[in-house]
Amino acid sequence: MDTHLLAAALPALGWAAHTSLLTHRLTTARRDPLTGLHTRDGFTTRADRITRRHPDAAVLLVDLDDFKAVNDTHGHAAGDAVITATAHRLTRWTGAHGITARLGGDEFATALTSLTPTTGLAALREALHRPVAHHGRWIDTSASLGICHLTDLPAPTLTDALAAADAAMYADKGHGRRNNH
Ligand code: GH3
Ligand code: MG
Repeated sequence: MDTHLLAAALPALGWAAHTSLLTHRLTTARRDPLTGLHTRDGFTTRADRITRRHPDAAVLLVDLDDFKAVNDTHGHAAGDAVITATAHRLTRWTGAHGITARLGGDEFATALTSLTPTTGLAALREALHRPVAHHGRWIDTSASLGICHLTDLPAPTLTDALAAADAAMYADKGHGRRNNH
């Protein structure tokens, strides 16, 4: 290449690389670094679209049970392994039927275009209760699930679906945490 041409191209190349790096950073910021799942903002946008476009949509919330005890007993890295395994299990179960996010801590959400037989809740519950291998040990895990089918709501909005799924999840948890605090 002519040296003049090269000199002219360099700043452009530099800028292109810089833009690409910025785009990458922005993309990763919308992802949870531990699990690679969407964070709450990305979830809200996509789940809103799903609930608007699919009348049979469903919203699912998952919260690990007594997760603090996993950290206390086995250490933070083991806790991270349980969170990562939970993310994989949820993502695999959701497949192409919707999107999954880590809302924060040990709480996850999925928005499904519909709840088909292959996405039956029993299979998910079974998967989420399988012990997680970590450094040659098995860590017992348990999760509470709450689901809301949009067809069960008087006004099918994402906000109401999340609130109903949250109530169902706490009912599933069964130990009345809210009443105890
Ligand atoms: P419950 O059954 O009522 O849900 O009790 P819990 O012990 O699971 O309590 P809760 O859901 O309120 O607390 C979640 C804990 O998760 C609190 C925090 O110490 C821990 N945690 C949050 N983020 C992370 C993380 O990224 N890694 C690890 N290892 N622990 C985390
Ligand atoms: Mg929990």
